[in-house]
Amino acid sequence: MRCKVCGKDYPSLYHFKTADTCLACYEGLSEEERAKAAQPSPIHQLTTTAFTLDGYRIVKSFGVIRGITVRSRSVFGTIGASLQTIVGGNITLFSELCEQTRAEAFEMMIHHAVERGANAVIGVRYDATEILQGVTEVLCYGTAVLVEPTV
Ligand SMILES: [Zn+2]
Repeated sequence: MRCKVCGKDYPSLYHFKTADTCLACYEGLSEEERAKAAQPSPIHQLTTTAFTLDGYRIVKSFGVIRGITVRSRSVFGTIGASLQTIVGGNITLFSELCEQTRAEAFEMMIHHAVERGANAVIGVRYDATEILQGVTEVLCYGTAVLVEPTV
């Protein structure tokens, strides 16, 4: 797949930050451009943890699709978070990391759904497994479906 910004061809989505902007290009964008690049596509509004979508009828199912990200904690982040655990409360450094990691897995799942020709994802779930100490795999999965509005 090709990056819309630099036109470079990459072997997989894992080199991409958004649907059409590669990691390297995304790094060089301003805050404003980043927000624009991350604009959610219509399929984002058609995702649910339920198995039905109100106002829509499922016309086709493409089966289970998933998105995976593997994250390790940085040494500095871990030290900062360790200090936060002493204070107690919300460990924001880890909250942020988890939020970001899950968002990435979600985007990856959406991408696979679109690839199959789906316009909605139902039964969305998250799962996380620690592969190694400090290295976590986050999985987001659901059922890719084609829906049409019930009028
Ligand atoms: Zn690029």
